[in-house]
Amino acid sequence: MAQLQPVRGTHDILPDDFARFRHVVDTARHAASLFGYREMATPIFEFTEVFARSMGETSDVVSKEMYSFTDKGGEGLTLRPEYTAGICRAFISNGLQQHVPLKTFAWGPMFRFERPQKGRQRQFHQIDIEVIGSAEPQADAEVIGVAAEILRRLGILDKCVLELNTLGDPESRSGYRDALVAYFSGHLARLSEDSRRRLEKNPLRILDSKDEGDRALVADAPLIDDYLTPHARDFFAAVKDGLGAAGVPFTVNPRLVRGLDYYTHTAFEFTTTMLGAQGTVLAGGRYDGLIEQLGGKPTPGIGWAGGIERLVLLSDPQPVPAPMVALVPIGAAAEAAAVTLAGELRRADIAVELAYGGNAGKRFKRADRLGCVAAVVIGDDELARGAVVLKDLKSGTQTELPRADLVARLKA
Ligand code: ATP
Ligand code: MG
Repeated sequence: MAQLQPVRGTHDILPDDFARFRHVVDTARHAASLFGYREMATPIFEFTEVFARSMGETSDVVSKEMYSFTDKGGEGLTLRPEYTAGICRAFISNGLQQHVPLKTFAWGPMFRFERPQKGRQRQFHQIDIEVIGSAEPQADAEVIGVAAEILRRLGILDKCVLELNTLGDPESRSGYRDALVAYFSGHLARLSEDSRRRLEKNPLRILDSKDEGDRALVADAPLIDDYLTPHARDFFAAVKDGLGAAGVPFTVNPRLVRGLDYYTHTAFEFTTTMLGAQGTVLAGGRYDGLIEQLGGKPTPGIGWAGGIERLVLLSDPQPVPAPMVALVPIGAAAEAAAVTLAGELRRADIAVELAYGGNAGKRFKRADRLGCVAAVVIGDDELARGAVVLKDLKSGTQTELPRADLVARLKA
């Protein structure tokens, strides 16, 4: 066997990377909490139905990308490719109707069988925001506002553009659908095979095609704008007003559609030019039909998901290890005393490095390598006097002080 490797498209998150990863999650969770969104989680796998029924059979995710399997009990299960379907399933399963609007923050691993590239993995991670049970355009503006606030706090809002569009209400969509069918039917020979299939089942999906030939055709396709009902038009205007009031800049992209069946009205993406082909950092929209499609009572919803790996690639390095103090006992008696002292310091919330052995030189070297800010030297003499020597590892200055004063001094 060659060197043992992780599965293609999966990555280990080593401690330095994890600090940046954790920073994205913590920043998102905190910003979301400022808007009243509460953290929740759903299982990593669900019945395959949950995704197939909600995301649509013709979506790339359902038709090509799902990790589906039959478990030992014969159940058809799928590792979640996204959060929205599971959270809506949880909304129905737990009878959360009395909590609407339910405002949630979630994060965790997602699984899609894709061609791995920079910013595209088979196991990746998302942060996710949902509002379930609100049909008001103010909710659309708010969830986008949460995204902007998270990006601002991560220092990457300026590297992104918010692209916004509306997919209209069902009535707008059906008029638009007919126009698209008429248009693409006139160019059948130039359509990719995938898109010929989409033409029958979901012609809007063609607008999201990544095929070059399809994209050339899409450039001249009819725009939704000409098919919007007055209601859909007013709704979109209200979302734009809401974003204006919140001070969130956006550009309308009339070609923006999202790849899943469940979207209505608002669709949006924060995109960047700094990640090559993987330019979408965070994306979402309104999904008023989804919960009904899953078997619940008609309940509107809106949300988004952002790829944590892409957010990490865009954000500045965040080496924020907690300041740590190294204990350097010299002599057998001091070694036991150091264990006791380490316990006291840790109970006072001070991070302590205490090596399992080695002489003072080795211990100082390790303290340096770990970036410890100070060392506490305990020799037999100090021990007898109830004192310790505190060495500032940055400046090199050394002071002796009573052991009883150590916590207060380190805290200062
Ligand atoms: P793309 O067009 O890049 O495939 P998508 O439309 O499939 O994206 P969504 O389902 O909207 O993506 O997921 C939301 C976000 O999750 C994306 O904007 C991206 O940041 C991230 N994401 C999606 N798929 C992957 C992946 N395979 N690896 C890493 N991040 C991903
Ligand atoms: Mg995709």
